[in-house]
Amino acid sequence: MPYEVQYQCQRCTACCRWPGQVKVSAQETVQIAAFLGVEEDNFIQRFTRLRAQREGLALLDKPNGECFFLDGRDCRIQPVKPQQCRDFPHKWNFPGWRQTCEATPVLTST
Ligand code: SF4
Repeated sequence: MPYEVQYQCQRCTACCRWPGQVKVSAQETVQIAAFLGVEEDNFIQRFTRLRAQREGLALLDKPNGECFFLDGRDCRIQPVKPQQCRDFPHKWNFPGWRQTCEATPVLTST
C-alpha cells in the first residue's frame, strides 16, 4: 500500500516568523476584515502591503520580519488565516524549514 508523509502542525509559529510574504487574496481580505470588524478598505490600508512582484497584496510584516498578526504563539486571525498559512509545509516551505519547524511527520496511506 503506498504511503506519504504528512506533517501535523504543532503551532510552533516558525512559518509565521519566517521573513517572507504572506499572500492574501481578494476574498481573504473580505473575510479577515469582517473577522476584525473593520471595513475592507480600512483593513487593506492598515494591514496589507503590495507583494514584492506587485501582483497582489500580502499581510503587513513587523520590523523583525514576522507576520503582523502573530501574537506570541498565537495567530490573531486564526479562524480566517490565508490559504498560504494553511498550506505550509505541504504545498510550500522555505530553505531549512525542517530545522526550525516542529511539525510532526506522520505516515499516511494514500
Ligand atoms: S496570518 Fe496567522 S498563521 Fe498566517 S503567518 Fe500570520 S500569524 Fe501566522
